Amino acid sequence: MEALLEGLNDAQRAPVLQKDGAMMVIAGAGSGKTRVLTMRIAYLMQQGVDAFNILSLTFTNKAAREMKTRIGTIVGNSEAKNLWMGTFHSVFAKILRIEGHHLGFPPNFTIYDSQDSQRLISAIIKEMGLDKDIYKYKQVHSRISSFKNSLITVKAYYQNPELMEADAMAKKPRMGDIYKEYVDRCFKAGAMDFDDLLLRTNELLARFPEVLAKYQKRFQYILVDEYQDTNHSQYLIVKALADRYQNICVVGDDSQSIYAFRGANINNILNYQKDYEDVKVYRLEQNYRSTKNIVEAANSVIEHNKTKLDKIVWTANDNGPKIIVHRSLTDGEEGRYVASTIFEEKMNKQLKPSDFAILYRTNAQSRAMEDALRKREIPYRIFGGLSFYQRKEIKDVLAYLRVLTNPNDEEGLKRIINFPARGIGATTIDRLVIASKQYNKSIFEVMENIQHIEIQINNSTKNKLYNFVNMIKSFQITAENADAFVTAEEVARKTGLLQELKKDGTPEGIARIENIEELLNGIRDFVEGQKEVADATGSLAEFLEDVALATDLDKEVDDVDRVSMMTIHLAKGLEFPYVFVVGMEEDLFPSGMSMNTRSELEEERRLFYVALTRAEHQAYLTYTESRYRWGKLIDAEPSRFIEEIDESFLDIQTPMESYRYKPLVDTDIFGEPDKSKLRLKKPIAGSAPTVGKPSADQLQKLRKLRPQGSSTPPLQTDDLNGNLKAGSRVEHNRFGHGEVLGIEGIGQDQKAEIRFQTGGIKKLLLRFAKLKIL
Ligand code: ATP
Ligand code: MG
Repeated sequence: MEALLEGLNDAQRAPVLQKDGAMMVIAGAGSGKTRVLTMRIAYLMQQGVDAFNILSLTFTNKAAREMKTRIGTIVGNSEAKNLWMGTFHSVFAKILRIEGHHLGFPPNFTIYDSQDSQRLISAIIKEMGLDKDIYKYKQVHSRISSFKNSLITVKAYYQNPELMEADAMAKKPRMGDIYKEYVDRCFKAGAMDFDDLLLRTNELLARFPEVLAKYQKRFQYILVDEYQDTNHSQYLIVKALADRYQNICVVGDDSQSIYAFRGANINNILNYQKDYEDVKVYRLEQNYRSTKNIVEAANSVIEHNKTKLDKIVWTANDNGPKIIVHRSLTDGEEGRYVASTIFEEKMNKQLKPSDFAILYRTNAQSRAMEDALRKREIPYRIFGGLSFYQRKEIKDVLAYLRVLTNPNDEEGLKRIINFPARGIGATTIDRLVIASKQYNKSIFEVMENIQHIEIQINNSTKNKLYNFVNMIKSFQITAENADAFVTAEEVARKTGLLQELKKDGTPEGIARIENIEELLNGIRDFVEGQKEVADATGSLAEFLEDVALATDLDKEVDDVDRVSMMTIHLAKGLEFPYVFVVGMEEDLFPSGMSMNTRSELEEERRLFYVALTRAEHQAYLTYTESRYRWGKLIDAEPSRFIEEIDESFLDIQTPMESYRYKPLVDTDIFGEPDKSKLRLKKPIAGSAPTVGKPSADQLQKLRKLRPQGSSTPPLQTDDLNGNLKAGSRVEHNRFGHGEVLGIEGIGQDQKAEIRFQTGGIKKLLLRFAKLKIL
């Protein structure tokens, strides 16, 4: 036991040693809340509490596994194995397998993921003959999900005139009928969706007192991590189960509540003291994770929120380096900065890739980072999501590009022939496949000749096939005359892929549009880069080859040590020595969709607080001057959150690639960036409020963060490529490291043949190529 307590300070020991009763540990990031929870469980077990009697709820299953391992080392693995530990969803799925029969569910019930649910809802909308443009299946799904998370059953829905009226006003008077049909169909199929796992648990505990009593007795000690992000449904489950013994310990940080958009209710933590008798509240104040600079910078940010509990966070750790603020011209450059910084820090300080994390606000931002890391051969892993080129909408666009490059690409063709829906059904496709075998032609060729062959397809469908073939052919003409970017943009627009997603209107739909835009952005970048390559044209075929190589890398499933990449939402509770928070720009972070009310903006700020406090040693905040969004190159403004950090914690840098450009900021007499030019000192009294868009005045101040004179032309190539000869080792900002194999041509046409560590051999025109001789 001594050993167990040695790793805790006095404040942390208190909640560990209080064996019984209701308690709450409320404390800032990195102060050891999760550690307290872990040690409390180990301590309870050392005091003789049976592992079977402890229930511990965590934010991710990964966190649960890590805690179990830790506890195992203290009390022995065979004991720790018996702990009930996991996310709400995983723990209550387990209980529903045992008890679901009370509600009429088989023990082997299926769990529908959101795609399954949406497919079913979409089928129901169709069967009911409803207009799918009004009853958008994703919107209907998220509405049903919100009913379930607020415990509004079908019956409760029909008893609530307000809800019904709201749906009628939204032109969806049949919402209740869809809800009813969906619930019935899931039930008949022996299936529960994610929300059911909580809803049905609540139902089980409410309707069957003997079941409730059984689990109340079983779970004598209950512990909940990240309590600030529990929703109403989760809250009620915990409350019901803890009611008998009231041995409940919740830990959380109101400043890290970031899931309100999914129904998390911060009041659960604020009202905790009213919910249980004699609640003991513990506060932890010492942060063990991060340097002083990071802790104090994070404190200075969260100060801007009005709604928060007063907390103190300090650390005895070193000051550490200042937070680096880095500006780039484009997101491509931002990616290259991040990749080369990781590369250099790793070499200089003997670090592992897993010492680094890249955090972003939206999934689409991973593309520029992924491309840059690949070029540098830095292994990475995307948490909780697919890597960019594996995402559905990206594969859809790529399938179009593949088919127009090679119409015989059967998998590609099957993927897009009826997507977006154009009335070409499965039977038609089967018949095309049979005919293609019969005539020994590709499916596309069969379609081209559809008027002249014998095939059992009616004229109206033949017309649709004909239109499809013509569309692909028109894209082929574009591809012959224009570069990959122009072609891809036309494909995204003319196929209706973008419109389809725009109609959808859900947050996922918007994320998918962002991804497609990001793909176009990447293609544009690629085409730009190919201009340097002597025998390249920036064609679609070249791009597809590049992507094929990239996606091949994705398939690695080995256990290589990797850089972590994830959205900030997923980073909660984690820590990394080096953290990059990228895309620190207004409208992106804070998100443009979250600036309408103070509470939305405050949630974004908490999200930034979470991001910053993941860093142990060094944090980097990067932003770009311009970014392609919604199909346009937008002048980006640095995020107000950079502004809100006390200046003394920041190290504002000139761009890495300054060898290409004149220094982008004015320098003072010592050659240091002139910070007075870079930042607004402090909000000016009487200036615009922090809610909503920045005022014109604020914008003007913020603009001072933007570069001066960035339009300076690149340096003469002689300066960079002067001594190039066969055998020279060079670095290229896009292709990475390489070796010169030979030089050919003279004057303007001089080219270098270079073997790059990635991407093979390329001939670069020295006139354009930006090579650094190593
Ligand atoms: P978050 O709010 O981000 O979830 P947290 O409050 O849960 O943070 P922990 O993850 O438990 O904090 O702890 C942060 C880091 O500090 C961990 O690496 C942990 O091992 C370390 N730590 C916590 N308490 C101590 C201590 N008393 N002595 C040494 N290290 C500690
Ligand atoms: Mg934690």
